[in-house]
Amino acid sequence: MKIAVFSTRSYDECFLKAANANLRHELHFFEARLTERTCRLAEGFPAVCVFVNDQLDKPVLETLAAGGTRLIALRCAGFNNVDLRAAQELGFTVTRVPAYSPHAVAEHTVALTLALVRRLHKAYNRVREGNFNLEGLLGFDLYKKTVGVIGTGKIGALVARAFLAGFGCRVLCHDVRQDPELVQLGAEYVPLERLFSVSDIISLHCPLLPETHHLIHEKTIQQMKDGVILINTSRGALIHTRSVIRALKTGKIGALGLDVYEEEADLFFEDLSNRVIQDDVFARMLTFPNVLITGHQAFFTQEAMEAIAAQTLENISAFAEGHRPPGLIEVEKVLGGHA
Ligand code: NAD
Repeated sequence: MKIAVFSTRSYDECFLKAANANLRHELHFFEARLTERTCRLAEGFPAVCVFVNDQLDKPVLETLAAGGTRLIALRCAGFNNVDLRAAQELGFTVTRVPAYSPHAVAEHTVALTLALVRRLHKAYNRVREGNFNLEGLLGFDLYKKTVGVIGTGKIGALVARAFLAGFGCRVLCHDVRQDPELVQLGAEYVPLERLFSVSDIISLHCPLLPETHHLIHEKTIQQMKDGVILINTSRGALIHTRSVIRALKTGKIGALGLDVYEEEADLFFEDLSNRVIQDDVFARMLTFPNVLITGHQAFFTQEAMEAIAAQTLENISAFAEGHRPPGLIEVEKVLGGHA
């Protein structure tokens, strides 16, 4: 099948080509992000392969449909960037890679937490400059601290396990459904208000849905402990960024670790090091000594990239053969609760 691959970076090309070693599919790589301006590049391609910041809103989907595209193959787990209602109306099949390596994201979450708790991002720079002073680097033990995990699906459950078994933390969870194995391991499911009010560290792992949009905002932050550490490796819009900035300024939030950002589409995955960042909210976050941001790299491991490429092509092959792709998004089911 002829596939237009958008938002291509060298690593996407490398892993997708390796997964397509039998040359079963014809891959055409475009560096451009899929937007209203670039969607005509897909004309004549029955499939497009897209990533987290490609824009699949109604106008783009209409242009894709008019150009003969029938399959949208996401090479990621989240699909909040696709207007599923419009995709369904236009007759698209939409696939994703629901689980490639939840370990990759869970481990990055723990890395962000540890780096912030022990000020590794500050220590790294100091030592390189020959400054071995410890002033300002005081951390705390994770042992016996309370970690709140919101969303205990594939990634959240691994994060909860790591803090429980690896560090001897008390883990409080919140989810619309409980994982009995986590409870057996000692985690406790609690209402959100309780999780907010007693957690020393809060980590977000629920999907971005209308009901989770800006889950962290002025009022919910007020419910949190003073100096709480907030980690988000899920989706940027779970957090109302301006509220978090206000809370960082007062010290209500003691440290912030982000791998995702609400407006990341204009920044992440690009080398902007020679340009002036135009996003003042993002730029403000970079000024805090207790904020550590990575540019949506939690998924980025060798194992995850191999799995993503293999499963993306598996979805495309199944579609081409008229079978049900393993990563099919069942639009009816998804929209059922969130139309
Ligand atoms: P998952 O579907 O396995 O788990 C999500 C969990 O959230 C489920 O248990 C679900 O019941 C729960 N949930 C749904 N609504 C909720 C609500 N209102 N409140 C609390 N919990 C709720 O998903 P996953 O694979 O664990 O991924 C979690 C998130 O991580 C997704 O948003 C995904 O997009 C993101 N992600 C980020 C990266 C990255 O590189 N940063 C990579 C992969 C996934």
